[in-house]
Amino acid sequence: MQDMLPKFTRFAPSPSGLLHLGHAHSALFAAREAERIGGAFLLRIEDIDVGRCRPEFDAAIREDLSWLGLTWPEPVLRQSERLSLYDKFLHVLEDGGLTYPCFCTRKDIQAEIADAPRAPHGPDGPLYPGTCRVLDPIKARDRVAAGEAHAVRLNMAKAARMAGPLTFTDLDRGRIDVHPETCGDIVLARKDVPTSYHLSVTVDDALQHVTLVTRGEDLLHATHIHRVLQTLLGLPEPEYRHHGLLTDKNGRRYAKRDKALTLAALREAGKEPADVRAMAGFPE
Ligand code: GLU
Repeated sequence: MQDMLPKFTRFAPSPSGLLHLGHAHSALFAAREAERIGGAFLLRIEDIDVGRCRPEFDAAIREDLSWLGLTWPEPVLRQSERLSLYDKFLHVLEDGGLTYPCFCTRKDIQAEIADAPRAPHGPDGPLYPGTCRVLDPIKARDRVAAGEAHAVRLNMAKAARMAGPLTFTDLDRGRIDVHPETCGDIVLARKDVPTSYHLSVTVDDALQHVTLVTRGEDLLHATHIHRVLQTLLGLPEPEYRHHGLLTDKNGRRYAKRDKALTLAALREAGKEPADVRAMAGFPE
């Protein structure tokens, strides 16, 4: 019966720059996995970062992926059009007493961490030190009501207790225990945007019925967070495959700074789609 259900993978870029070879690898990886599992490949535009995302990059992403030979069903889901949906899921966590408003600036957080050298660290460096977690809730509520800018954070220790022990399956790495304590009190809604990467990606993967989430291994730690959120929000658990990151001949990851290795620049320089697919690790 399970095998009868539709299966989906997805490629979910942020339109904050042109796609480069690393993105091509990720997109082709997701498309190949869709084929392998007899499912469909989805494109999703993750454009919640209003300051960095631009419509022209959105158009360029579609052009580049089509040129590479990829196809996907329309309409393509754009996260910026779903903010009220994410808000509903945020409310579930707020109503469960699992969140708190955070008024800290980046500077406040850095200062607090500098003062507490033994502050817990996660894979991306020091974790949020929990400054606003211990604020008097009445005072915090008044500050919110007075319109003070704030993010909303997940109280991870409480969330982890409520979720109980969790695991996830990475098709290459096997069954992995979830370690919420390595994630800290992550942001669910930012000061400038009423959601965050973690919240919107978890909601969308579930509502789009993504059964196999593929992404770079640099985001392996995010999967621990997403499993906690799925459990608290009653969303299904997909399978995962975190792929290795494509690197240049010096072992450096491709990044936005590598202007010559954007798909647009390679196309401009006369490369054919098959050449670029091969450069991205997918020879015919
Ligand atoms: N929008 C994310 C990125 O561009 C995708 C993350 C994911 O695949 O979960 O890095």
